[in-house]
Amino acid sequence: MKKHLLFLGPPGAGKGTQAALVSKTNSYLHLSTGELLRKEIDLKTELGLEVKGIMNKGQLVNDDLVLEIVKKNLNQSNKGWILDGYPRNLSQANSLNDVLKNINQSLEIVFYLDIPEEVLIERLLLRGRKDDNEETIKTRLNVYRETTEPLIKYYEKLSLLEFINADRDLKIISDDIKQKMA
Ligand code: ADP
Repeated sequence: MKKHLLFLGPPGAGKGTQAALVSKTNSYLHLSTGELLRKEIDLKTELGLEVKGIMNKGQLVNDDLVLEIVKKNLNQSNKGWILDGYPRNLSQANSLNDVLKNINQSLEIVFYLDIPEEVLIERLLLRGRKDDNEETIKTRLNVYRETTEPLIKYYEKLSLLEFINADRDLKIISDDIKQKMA
């Protein structure tokens, strides 16, 4: 059973939902950089205040800031983990490699949740989070296409990529993931 997982895909593909399901079933750590950043905003911490404007615009938070969050949360315990929303560009992917090397762990599988753009926009507008308005969604999709999408090829070359059709029923997707993790 794979213990070190990464979920990749555009905003609205369902990474968070699927990562939460897998982490619950297997008692893995679910590390969502977006969630952790939103928590900082809610708590009105210094970090939260610093990233609030950027996140509400749909842009990426500074790599070093996010890296600190990832380092703090990825412990060396035997527990498995799921990265959701990190890395989001090649520089973050390289930093992740360094972090994992330092703790003697390695990524075992990358699930790429693929879904048509029309479906994404519809889903995000229904979800209605603070950054789920038309303007911000447009920015997030552009950022995804320009900086995050190249990671698909990157992980494909490392033979870590598993393609998941995310335009299906939630349960069917999670069964698919479960099978591929085995
Ligand atoms: P989604 O992918 O559905 O847009 P997330 O919760 O993953 O939702 O991310 C929300 C926002 O948090 C992003 O638009 C970005 O501003 C910030 N964020 C999350 N993860 C990262 C990251 N790895 N690097 C930079 N910014 C991030």
